[in-house]
Amino acid sequence: MMLVAEHNYPNTYREFVKMFPDDTACAAFLVRLRWPKGFICPVCKKTSTPWNESRGRLACPICRHQTSVSARTIFDKTRTSLTTWFEAAWHVTTAKNGMSAKTLERTIGTSYQVAWMMLQRFRVAMVNSERKQLSGDVEVDETLIGGVQQGGKRGRGATKSIVVIAVEIKHPKGFGRVRMRYVPDASGDSLLPFVCDVVAPGSAVNTDGWSAYNKLSELGYTHKITKLSSSGDPAHVSMPGVHRVASLLKRWILGTHQGSVAQEHLQSYLEEFTFRFNRRTFRSRGLVFRRLLEQAVVTSPTTEADIIGGYDWKLNIK
Ligand SMILES: [Zn+2]
Repeated sequence: MMLVAEHNYPNTYREFVKMFPDDTACAAFLVRLRWPKGFICPVCKKTSTPWNESRGRLACPICRHQTSVSARTIFDKTRTSLTTWFEAAWHVTTAKNGMSAKTLERTIGTSYQVAWMMLQRFRVAMVNSERKQLSGDVEVDETLIGGVQQGGKRGRGATKSIVVIAVEIKHPKGFGRVRMRYVPDASGDSLLPFVCDVVAPGSAVNTDGWSAYNKLSELGYTHKITKLSSSGDPAHVSMPGVHRVASLLKRWILGTHQGSVAQEHLQSYLEEFTFRFNRRTFRSRGLVFRRLLEQAVVTSPTTEADIIGGYDWKLNIK
């Protein structure tokens, strides 16, 4: 079996079309991503070169078990062709700001429903279960999504959706990776579990003076508090990372998604933003496309019922 070299991905749309002319080519690519060291039979667990049966099915030459490359992945039991899935993955990873379901529908000629379901499933796959916690110097702060803040007040607990953001701060300048979570309120019960989930113990966590963060030092972090001065310094002076990321996030929701993000799906959008932001320095957008497919073949299937009312991110948030 041919192994997929690390550089094996299309760099341009022209290369993409050439590389994936049909479902067979897409399936072959997924086989190599899913089993980079050779096909492993899910039943007898032996490594072999599988027989290619019709309709993308693979058969183990040792025990004759039949499987398919899409079984137990986000492509499981899909009625959408792999070429359509690949086309969607290409656009969502190579367009600078991704694509809304509406734009995707028009771009690849599916129904809105199909475009929306593919995007939602890709967002689940965008959360790499093996991603590492943030570390070093990390800023943590909340922002409000879904409307314009009024009166210049921070408005904790207002009617908008609260999103807590963590950003790695690089020295002398620049930002590293981000994580974000939609939380029901700005209490310690909502904010502290987020920090514990996404920031490695021992890191320096910088917050404002909000009392909900008081326990951070007890939880194993070096807690640095930046108090906003009473003279009304804008928040970005003390929290440049979170301020920058929050404004990019808001611009993305307003621009790409016309500001129409339902609260029950907000976390999905946050995960997509995070996936793209954390790969912003990749040398090729084609590599981001490849990474998404790599994650898609190790992500368990989600049903429409799992997704329609809002995906339960507690299952794999980290
Ligand atoms: Zn077998």
